[in-house]
Amino acid sequence: MDEFGLIRTFFKSLESNHAGNVVQSIGDDAAVIKPQPNSELVISTDTMVEGRHFLADWSADIIAYKALATNVSDMVAMGATAQGCVLALTLPSLNQNWLAKFANGLAQALSSFNVDLVGGDTTKGPLTITFTIYGMVPQGQALLRSNAKLGDLIYTTGTLGEGAYAVSQLSNNSADDLIFQKLFKPTPRIAYLPLLQQFASSAIDISDGLSSDLRHILNSSQLGANLIAAKIPVSNVIKQHCSEDSYLSWALHSGDEYEICFTVPADKQQALELFAERNHLNIHHIGHTTADVGILNLINNSGELSQITAGGFNHFQTKGGGNNESIST
Ligand code: ADP
Ligand code: MG
Repeated sequence: MDEFGLIRTFFKSLESNHAGNVVQSIGDDAAVIKPQPNSELVISTDTMVEGRHFLADWSADIIAYKALATNVSDMVAMGATAQGCVLALTLPSLNQNWLAKFANGLAQALSSFNVDLVGGDTTKGPLTITFTIYGMVPQGQALLRSNAKLGDLIYTTGTLGEGAYAVSQLSNNSADDLIFQKLFKPTPRIAYLPLLQQFASSAIDISDGLSSDLRHILNSSQLGANLIAAKIPVSNVIKQHCSEDSYLSWALHSGDEYEICFTVPADKQQALELFAERNHLNIHHIGHTTADVGILNLINNSGELSQITAGGFNHFQTKGGGNNESIST
């Protein structure tokens, strides 16, 4: 089998037109997509490198699913509906078993997220998976990191800590499979899009850790923030397996979460919480923005304030605090 046979066998069959705007899919020099009126195109790319974002022994279907899920999560964080993607795949060898599994995981992800695979590129080299994803947002409605305002409330979806805990257990052969759900099969928060589009002033997905990802919003918006320790939602996995004095550290610095941290104008709080309740969306009010530019504080149960030092994960960081328990960004 050559490169063209490989594309035909494993990827041409994954073609779809969920978004209804694909004019030309896999098979030409480039894909052709029909733009929607009154919308803006949102585009993003994420690379997964063996040894850095996933390990050689991970099943290929998990690698494919996760790679697409993280890209879809970036669309959600922009308030955009993901529509399609191209896949740049670099393979060390043409291993048909591996490719069949990879295509399987990809097919599952494409259909769960309603995304069309419209093209790609296949080359030989160290195993690397790069998806470029595109989506649409109503004109002027993209959720920019720079748009949080002073006094906005800070929320997160879901619960936190599980991603990093899973990474810490990768070499523990007796660890329960349930622990790895979030790391291996993250759920991009597509279900929260209507809520985000209606109420959020800014948003980011938590890939490196709440503390470091929230900082991106604060820096872009020239703000600080106070988080309330008692309100940070700690994952049950952490509660079951870790000591109570470490709960917050896990929740604040865990990467690989793919929850959405977002800000909301205070006067929308009531309407937001009603909307969340009615639509069974799990959101937590964890703090508010302040005028102390760049300062991220934690308020403990006695009302005392302390600064949260850098945590999360940074590929090019040589020192720093936090758990750094993440293998992705
Ligand atoms: P070109 O030489 O023009 O770059 P290629 O031979 O790389 O074309 O690809 C042929 C067609 O197959 C193109 O439409 C391309 O988008 C698609 N393609 C290549 N690799 C992949 C892949 N891994 N997944 C999906 N489509 C792919
Ligand atoms: Mg090519």
